[in-house]
Amino acid sequence: MLFLRDAHNRIIRDLRVSLTDRCNFRCFYCLPNGEPPLARKETILTFEEIEYVCDIFVSLGIEKIRLTGGEPMLRKDIEVLIGKLARLKSQISNPKLKDLALTTNGHTFPRRAENLKRAGLDRVTISLDSLRRERFKEITGVDALENVFDSIEAAKKYHLTPVKINCVLVRGRNDDEIVDFARFARENDVKMRFIEFMPLDSGHDWTRESIVSAREIREKINARFPLALKEKSRGAETAWRYEFADGAPGEIGIVAPVTEMFCGACSRIRLTADGQIRTCLFSTEEYNLRDCLRSGSNRAEIVEFIRSVVLKKEARHTINDEKFAPASRSMSFIGG
Ligand code: SAM
Ligand code: SF4
Repeated sequence: MLFLRDAHNRIIRDLRVSLTDRCNFRCFYCLPNGEPPLARKETILTFEEIEYVCDIFVSLGIEKIRLTGGEPMLRKDIEVLIGKLARLKSQISNPKLKDLALTTNGHTFPRRAENLKRAGLDRVTISLDSLRRERFKEITGVDALENVFDSIEAAKKYHLTPVKINCVLVRGRNDDEIVDFARFARENDVKMRFIEFMPLDSGHDWTRESIVSAREIREKINARFPLALKEKSRGAETAWRYEFADGAPGEIGIVAPVTEMFCGACSRIRLTADGQIRTCLFSTEEYNLRDCLRSGSNRAEIVEFIRSVVLKKEARHTINDEKFAPASRSMSFIGG
């Protein structure tokens, strides 16, 4: 079996599948104005189509699949899809899927966590951008902080672990909570992932000044809770990972695509809800896998299509270049 290798000699192991571009939150850094979904119902991939293409991707060496969106929990009967994809972990043929994960805003998660686990989900990442109720509402447009706390508890209870928490830090909005979040990671034994604000918001309000850099995050936490870099902490991972030097539980991760770019180790590829392959978050082009699927291509032709697309994966993003051209879609459509 030949792995998926791009023109820059990176092996692609990680597939992110967006299940919908709809969302019930209005995070100011993502989908502030609640724009209507771009993808029409008939263009959205069915569960059978997603299962089929994921089966092909796994046969080409994809080890991790993450379901995302928009809000993936809005996709009706997501448990059914998870059940189908979980079979790729135990199929007789090699290679197999190793990790099936979900990223969610946590709104409807607590009451569905048990079924998701039973269906075969391995882990969950939950977004949480403030520990203060009023501010959480300002950031997301929804008064749902308690739900998110309940989601974290439910994820632990049903062993959807390790639980990761994504937090997008934005200057002047929540950067005064960095140390509080580090304390939260220690007290709740979760893996915090601080993410730099990227120019992928549909409101186009991103500015370079609004980024809170990896360096600043590291320094602020270190001053209160000294950190120790974990061995092999980056590799193909996007995050720098730290443990607490005093041995407390929890972990700090910093994902810094802008100030500490990691494109050289990128092993990701993305599939949008309407079946477009994106080779980078910041791509200005997409490749229509849905048409390839629906026009009656056989498996070998689809494999050929995927391989040819992977070869076009960009060497790096150009956010830091003078001539940076914004991505062709915003985060809620691409799938974060
Ligand atoms: N709705 C789910 C959620 O919020 O977890 C999944 C989709 S969301 C697009 C995935 C992740 O992307 C979230 O953790 C979110 O915080 C992050 N994200 C969205 N817009 C972003 C931006 N402009 N810059 C950095 N991260 C962003
Ligand atoms: Fe929705 Fe997630 Fe975007 Fe927030 S970050 S608007 S929850 S898709």
